Amino acid sequence: MLRERADLASIWAAADALFPVRVTRSFWDRMNPSDPADPLAVQVLPDPRELDTHSSDLEDPVGDQARSPLPWVVQKHPDRVLLLLTKRCPLYCRYCFRRTHHPAAADDPTDAEWEAALRYTEESGAHEVILSGGDPLSVSDVRLFATMDRLRPVVPVIRIHTRAPVTHPRRVTPRLVRGLQERGPVWVVVHVNHSAELGGDVDCALEGLVDAGIPVLNQSVLLRGVNDEVETLVALCEALVRRRVLPYYLHHPDRVSGNAHFRVTLERGWELYEALRRRVSGVALPAYVIDPPDGSGKVLVGERIDLACLHRKLN
Ligand code: SF4
Repeated sequence: MLRERADLASIWAAADALFPVRVTRSFWDRMNPSDPADPLAVQVLPDPRELDTHSSDLEDPVGDQARSPLPWVVQKHPDRVLLLLTKRCPLYCRYCFRRTHHPAAADDPTDAEWEAALRYTEESGAHEVILSGGDPLSVSDVRLFATMDRLRPVVPVIRIHTRAPVTHPRRVTPRLVRGLQERGPVWVVVHVNHSAELGGDVDCALEGLVDAGIPVLNQSVLLRGVNDEVETLVALCEALVRRRVLPYYLHHPDRVSGNAHFRVTLERGWELYEALRRRVSGVALPAYVIDPPDGSGKVLVGERIDLACLHRKLN
């Protein structure tokens, strides 16, 4: 028993050194930490397999570094800029594709770095800015709103990619909702992988955003041991739609070092997606996408349409 505890502590410490181990009280209360198969616990508790290395692992699995013109900025398309407000998150998902960004340098930009990032974005001609991280709601309302106010005159649409309404729902305060509403059009893209993440205070946070007229979309990551069964995906998509949250993307997992035990094959992913497509309505069906390591941006899995086959169907 003592030996087991010591082993667990050393795995925990080793995993934490690679990528912080943090869980919020709210998320903890929704999971069963003593069940090794609990779909929420496996997302956030360290696993010895994180310490293994594989030849397929990548340090930069979606090619962000090659598309980063300066710190805290990623631009893969001429009309869009991704701004990374921070590396901090309320909790850390063990599969995160940015987990290797963590040990390097500081968690937040310096004032000079942030000014340069904003100036680049203003001059980029982008029509849409995606505020990301880390979790962009890890920064204060003051910094978040100042960023939005600075960009608003030149950027028509702002998107916020955040898991905070799910990991730390108390962050979605009336003040935050009002501030976002006043700075519209703003789209909020949350991140839920399993229907058990929903309910209680998470539902209140999502409802607060939707009731304020802020469109809320969801992206999920297809993860082995979390949601790689069709019934689980159906339950998730239907639960989101009931809450007026649009299932937007189902991401094929990225091959970052430390997350090999979460990966599914493309063949399995496609099989699941085809089954999901037969089970849910169009409004509940996310797009199945993969973000290739060359940095060219997301592509739809199975996008190739056989036009000859389509013509045969139409005639
Ligand atoms: S909240 Fe998002 S950015 Fe933060 S660890 Fe989880 S997946 Fe990564």
